[in-house]
Amino acid sequence: MTQLLGKSIIVTGASSGIGRAAALLFAREGGRLVAAARRQAELDDLVGEIAEAGGTAAALAGDVADEAYAKALVAEAVGRFGGLDVAFNNAVIIGEMSPAPDMTLDNWSKVIATNLTGAFLGAKHQIPAMAARGGGSVIFTSTFVGHTAGMPGMAAYAASKAGLIGLMQVLAVENGARGIRVNALLPGGTDTAAAAEFASSEDARAFVRGLHALKRISTPEEQARSALYLASDASSFTTGTTLIVDGGVSINRT
Ligand code: NAP
Repeated sequence: MTQLLGKSIIVTGASSGIGRAAALLFAREGGRLVAAARRQAELDDLVGEIAEAGGTAAALAGDVADEAYAKALVAEAVGRFGGLDVAFNNAVIIGEMSPAPDMTLDNWSKVIATNLTGAFLGAKHQIPAMAARGGGSVIFTSTFVGHTAGMPGMAAYAASKAGLIGLMQVLAVENGARGIRVNALLPGGTDTAAAAEFASSEDARAFVRGLHALKRISTPEEQARSALYLASDASSFTTGTTLIVDGGVSINRT
């Protein structure tokens, strides 16, 4: 359990779902965590669980769309752990599910601000800290939605997540020579609060399971293991890529 031994790591969206599972796994692998999300109580629970298991973590609550928070997270990692090695920019809101003509500008703006601008602000402040360290790994959580599949009602979400892939590619070429790798994880349906929001009835959940070649959705832990691959030296020659971990939802026609 030493794949991230001594690494200083920021995880956003750490209060639930994939981010929470990744924070727990990264800590078990020896990483030292700054856990980020808006809900302080959930972050405190997570930090307690990591400490009980013998790991190291701190919580700092805030809104990823706020640049001061992005800076504060990096300052927390540098102040506590002496630098920054890994950032998992994973926070999300789904927003309203409606056809584009019915979608409010307010919803569009909020979804883009959290999912895309939030990730940009994170990386903007993480990259100089990683450069000072001589390298690092930035990971964005994107999705198959807007990449390999159009899903009705998800215009803002899909645009924000497809935007992350363009951002990731540019950051990968801007920072490769400094040893900083930048990649995107593209999960399929995963059993989290966000998925429950997307599919709230058993019929809808069965429909979503059926979209996947594996005929199930993933656990947050399965996604966390893939994030660990991108975070760790196991992926030392991987940059600028989309890692699709989607149970075959992108290729399924059955
Ligand atoms: P989740 O359980 O709903 O977690 C979302 C996280 O984002 C929470 O920790 C939430 O915490 C945080 N968050 C939301 N708005 C924030 C803000 N403004 N500032 C800071 N933190 C904020 O979602 P999830 O399913 O684990 O999703 C994780 C990632 O996987 C997302 O990027 C999502 O797009 C991607 N993904 C998920 C699925 C799926 O089926 N679940 C499929 C494909 C891709 P607070 O509420 O405490 O702020």
